Amino acid sequence: METPAQKVTAKRPRVLIIGGGFAGLNAAKELSSLPVDVTLIDRKNHHTFQPLLYQVATATLSPGNIAQPIRRILSHCANVKVLMDELTAVDLSAKKAQFKNLGAVDFDYFILATGARHSYFGNDQWEKFAPGLKTIEDAVEIRSRILSAFEVAETEMAKTGTHKPLNFVIIGGGPTGVEMAGAISDICRMSMRGDYRLIDPAKARIILIEGLPRILGPYPEDLAASAVLQLQELGVEVMLSARVTDVQSDAVVTDKGVVPASVIMWAAGVQASSAGKMLNVECDRRGCVLVDDFLNPPGQPDVFVCGDVAHFEQDGKPVPGVAPCAMQMGEQAARAIACDLAGKARTKFRYDDKGDMATIGRRRAVANLKWPVKTHMSGFLAWLSWLLIHILSLIGLRNRLAVFFAWIWTYLRSESGVRLITDDVAEHPTPLAVTKDGPHLETKV
Ligand SMILES: Cc1cc2nc3c(=O)[nH]c(=O)nc-3n(C[C@H](O)[C@H](O)[C@H](O)COP(=O)(O)OP(=O)(O)OC[C@H]3O[C@@H](n4cnc5c(N)ncnc54)[C@H](O)[C@@H]3O)c2cc1C
Repeated sequence: METPAQKVTAKRPRVLIIGGGFAGLNAAKELSSLPVDVTLIDRKNHHTFQPLLYQVATATLSPGNIAQPIRRILSHCANVKVLMDELTAVDLSAKKAQFKNLGAVDFDYFILATGARHSYFGNDQWEKFAPGLKTIEDAVEIRSRILSAFEVAETEMAKTGTHKPLNFVIIGGGPTGVEMAGAISDICRMSMRGDYRLIDPAKARIILIEGLPRILGPYPEDLAASAVLQLQELGVEVMLSARVTDVQSDAVVTDKGVVPASVIMWAAGVQASSAGKMLNVECDRRGCVLVDDFLNPPGQPDVFVCGDVAHFEQDGKPVPGVAPCAMQMGEQAARAIACDLAGKARTKFRYDDKGDMATIGRRRAVANLKWPVKTHMSGFLAWLSWLLIHILSLIGLRNRLAVFFAWIWTYLRSESGVRLITDDVAEHPTPLAVTKDGPHLETKV
């Protein structure tokens, strides 16, 4: 005999959303007012506000400040059920998705919003030496590596009177790499000041390596040039047109020379989540699913692909993998279902781009605004705009307040509040020899 829930389900379309990121959450919220039964499944129990991950990695914010349980965020959506599981396969013709624990789940509409992950361009062996920043776990791991580097140096000084060069190397000069470099500079020059007796954290080198002739590829030239200047003011060395050929435990090898490193971070490439390929439809070379004007893979009107896992072209080029675009796509998929229910024609998706911004340390930023006015901003004003927009975009009043006060504290006291190493002490690797000239870039012979 059918349960009441099953009876309801039999009458109402079942919408299955995979991913509780920006796209999946927005689709679920938008669907909450429609006569549909929604199931949102994510392999994590929380939504992560990725734009502020670098602040967890650099010890300004706690993981809890930028993550929220998905079921809490959607608790007011009575027709939305949240489950924690991992998608493993999809059969579009049978309208069934397969999960690690749940087994098969049937759907009438399917929304894939599983985001993206790092790409090491076929060199996955580099990952253990150069972790990327995508999840809370990545951020906590990078934080531990950064903080441990200072502890190792202090211990080496206590033991031998010298220490391996404190070089923080960031590979990739996109917004994440730029934000990481600026924030590490702040840690070295401000937050750590006075905390160590034997080493001087301010003498650490921060090296940003970019393979192209300029950083911040998607930004206009003038803002990219301004970002280089602002980074240099913070003591960051920007290596342009340097192609990384190998990543080792204590060095990054480039075609311009070997850069000794105590901590290496990867911010150079992204690829779509592997779930895109499960649909068995056409994908681009990064694994993003090619979608039409309605966000459907061709010939699949009941399947929507949204956010970073989608390849959608507007005005001849793919839309960027950014949070506002993912949110708008999620809303669009829900609106298409609403049109179907109302017997109306669906509308085409168009990304409303309001601009991009990236911070550089605690007082600087670049902003390429397209709304409310088209303008380029650099420096303190751009940074204030960045603060405001990020506070307003965070999910949950508690997190907004916590982040606001953490930033005020950090700004006024020049102190990072969350300098926790959550691993036990590890055996130190053999210290690198320090030349009498101090640490420097070794040129390949
Ligand atoms: C470090 C960093 C900084 C960024 N900074 C900015 C910024 O400043 N501004 C900006 O606009 N954008 C920024 N972005 C990009 C932005 O975060 C993404 O564009 C956005 O998160 C994409 O949303 P999404 O919903 O497509 O995917 P995500 O938000 O990544 O969500 C995908 C969800 O799918 C789940 N999932 C994945 N695979 C499976 C599976 N097989 N089964 C079940 N669940 C699965 C994941 O757990 C995750 O919750 C940044 C990204 C990163 C990594």
